[in-house]
Amino acid sequence: MDLSFIGWISHYNCYIFFRIQFNLVIFLEVVGPIIDGIAINRDQRYITLNPADTRERVSMVSVATVDDVRHAFDSAYEAFDKWSRLSPHERARVLYRAADLFEQELDSMARLITREMGKTLAESRAEAERVPWILRFYAGLILRQSGRSIPSQVGNGLILAQREPLGVVSVITPWNFPIAIPAWKIVPAIAAGNTVVFKPASLTPTIAYKLVEILYKAGLPKGVVNMVIGPGSTVGREMLTNRHVEAISFTGSHEVGLEVHKAVGGLDRFVRLQLELGGKNAVVVAEDARIDEALDIIVRGAYSLAGQACTATSRVIAHESIYQRLVEALRERVSRIRVGNGLDPNTDMGPLSSIDQKKKVLTYIEIGRGEGATLVHGGRALENGIYQYGYYVEPTIFKDCSKDQRIFQEEIFGPVLCITPYRDLDEAVDLVNSVKYGLVAGIISRDIGRIMRLSRELKVGLVRVNRQTVGVEFQAPFGGVKASGNDIYKEQGEEALDFYTRIKTVYLHW
Ligand code: NAD
Repeated sequence: MDLSFIGWISHYNCYIFFRIQFNLVIFLEVVGPIIDGIAINRDQRYITLNPADTRERVSMVSVATVDDVRHAFDSAYEAFDKWSRLSPHERARVLYRAADLFEQELDSMARLITREMGKTLAESRAEAERVPWILRFYAGLILRQSGRSIPSQVGNGLILAQREPLGVVSVITPWNFPIAIPAWKIVPAIAAGNTVVFKPASLTPTIAYKLVEILYKAGLPKGVVNMVIGPGSTVGREMLTNRHVEAISFTGSHEVGLEVHKAVGGLDRFVRLQLELGGKNAVVVAEDARIDEALDIIVRGAYSLAGQACTATSRVIAHESIYQRLVEALRERVSRIRVGNGLDPNTDMGPLSSIDQKKKVLTYIEIGRGEGATLVHGGRALENGIYQYGYYVEPTIFKDCSKDQRIFQEEIFGPVLCITPYRDLDEAVDLVNSVKYGLVAGIISRDIGRIMRLSRELKVGLVRVNRQTVGVEFQAPFGGVKASGNDIYKEQGEEALDFYTRIKTVYLHW
């Protein structure tokens, strides 16, 4: 039996399908473009699946046409004038309300993240909990946002450097933090008075849709945030080249980031661009590190989100005096990681997010074997029993990795860790810096001299001392260098508002 019917859940056309199959009631969310405050349904659709058990469908997704994207930009352009002229207090009120509404739904939001992306419920909960923080942080910040007054050389004169919003901002996000990244881009953008066209990753649009839905429930005027879902080649292209785009904030892979950079560079006008890209993050474990502390930091950094974080630890550079002990202790600790469905509270590590992710990670494991690194633990797909319908790969460790190996150099974006010994700090710095990426580095040590020297010499955007590389905080600036980002503007923290505003200089004379 397969009965379906449609129920209304909000004033702007969002449906839920109730499918009744073998006495099971499955809630299938229906999501799609939201343009001018109205949810749109299109004929071209696809289904998102739970990567822990692909028999479970999560949502039916309506794909935007290129005309929808143009319409979304027109709507954002129309909405800009009114929204940007509201007082910061009026904009902040919407954000505070949205924070309250979101907080009431944390449990269901966390479950949805896990069901669509695969991370554990604890990881999803931590991600969802950030959203109200982000909303309140920028609501508060925008009230005290100030320019500067500068003395003038003319008598009876004063110069003001005032901050203004940019206009329509294009926001493009990846699937691994499906709500935190959209929130930390959209919220400062609209707090500052911009309007937004937003494209989430096709793999995880449902939770992103919820954020936009809540903003409208909180009283956001129509057109201030528009959402479109669809492939990078069509929808994504228009997101970069539409005539109304004033700025683009993009998070994703280095490869696509380069394409975005080229497409924007080819326009016959200037568009502000923020690129936050991949990483190949290392943790340096010094000879004075306590092994038990190092284990916690490394294991959390490497295997949270099954290694699918831009800030994941994928390399450990350990002093030769503790190297063997650390490898053995890591092997033992990692063998106790419980892999499973993220909804199970006993799970430490969930599945990979898609079949493509699984294939890519297994390919890299084969490459690692082929290039002579020694497999210490894991290395296989998990495909039997509870793993039968999911995209599972064992947490994996390679030792004796060297910098000429691809597994040492390239972003794998999965639960694969490379360990390499070093003799002295010069060699540690060289190993960390020898990759093209420069997002985050960890240092495990109690020696302040060593910590400060490494912090200065490691070519990365963030340094984490005695803490795991994943799990940055919303109130501090974030961003990578080298191939990890175009390093002009930071995201998050107060600095995010630098990207979403421009300075106008006003000369006063009386
Ligand atoms: P991706 O680059 O494949 O896609 C990112 C987004 O770009 C998606 O929404 C995608 O649809 C869109 N896109 C694809 N082609 C496009 C095009 N031609 N024009 C415009 N948009 C296009 O990345 P992903 O697989 O979704 O995410 C994983 C990557 O993101 C990893 O490399 C990871 O390190 C990186 N990441 C970086 C950060 C950071 O803050 N530095 C955070 C999270 C993830």
